[in-house]
Amino acid sequence: MKLKLVKKQDEAKGTVSFFWEPEKKVSYLPGQFFYFTLPSLKYPDPRGATRHFTISSSPTEEGFFRLSTRIREESGYKKTLNELPLGTGIEGEGPNGTFLLDEGDTGPHVFFAGGIGITPFRSIIKFVVDKNLNIPIHLIYSNSIPEEIAFRKEIEEWQAGHPNIKVDMAVSKPEESKEKWEGLTGRIDENLIGKLLPNIGSLNSIFWISGPPAMVDAVEDLLGKLGVTSNKVRSEKFTGY
Ligand SMILES: Cc1cc2nc3c(=O)[nH]c(=O)nc-3n(C[C@H](O)[C@H](O)[C@H](O)COP(=O)(O)OP(=O)(O)OC[C@H]3O[C@@H](n4cnc5c(N)ncnc54)[C@H](O)[C@@H]3O)c2cc1C
Repeated sequence: MKLKLVKKQDEAKGTVSFFWEPEKKVSYLPGQFFYFTLPSLKYPDPRGATRHFTISSSPTEEGFFRLSTRIREESGYKKTLNELPLGTGIEGEGPNGTFLLDEGDTGPHVFFAGGIGITPFRSIIKFVVDKNLNIPIHLIYSNSIPEEIAFRKEIEEWQAGHPNIKVDMAVSKPEESKEKWEGLTGRIDENLIGKLLPNIGSLNSIFWISGPPAMVDAVEDLLGKLGVTSNKVRSEKFTGY
């Protein structure tokens, strides 16, 4: 289906959102992804003109899809994407994927996001908030520096306005930031989980992990070690990071 670029927005240091107007209404569930194919590449890319990206908007935000990504200079695809003029048409294929929230999935849920892995959780939390669903969510969101926290203001507002949404953000390299960080530090490791979810092995929650493959593997292993059975874990690996 044809998607028209209607808006671009900086989300955080290095992260940009692209808003697309579909030629016809498309139904999708929060957390799903699309294949996005650029009409041609301005900069060469050995992987070609197609990538998968999560739809970071929620189905409650009608009329557009939002794609949020970290722009990388070494990616010809992303350099081309970042320079597309507004009004450009591209090809979208989807929705795809099973890393999604159904309204009947009442949880409670714990979300582990590594960097840009926040995109499906942005879609899901926005959906829960907009529909005022009674679904408890605890988001644990890790970034290198505070400047790289995408959707920060929005996430802080959700947490402040909705007793069901709990958020903990951690920063792994506060010394590399210009901003003074007084929150949690470190990666999503045993120490951080011990602080935030000391009795994780006995919780009745569903655990969701999204981010670069190495992060997802590490958190999956850790949850196993802490007594969480694999049937309670859902993962989405952002191959390519
Ligand atoms: C389900 C899903 C959802 C995603 N959602 C997002 C999102 O919301 N935002 C976002 O920024 N990214 C998302 N990604 C990752 C995205 O598709 C890109 O791969 C990533 O952004 C890196 O793109 P790139 O052009 O910078 O690097 P690339 O040029 O794509 O990749 C860099 C390196 O990784 C290798 N590589 C990449 N992909 C694969 C693969 N599939 N199999 C084997 N090797 C590979 C390449 O060979 C290359 O060496 C998602 C991936 C998946 C699978």
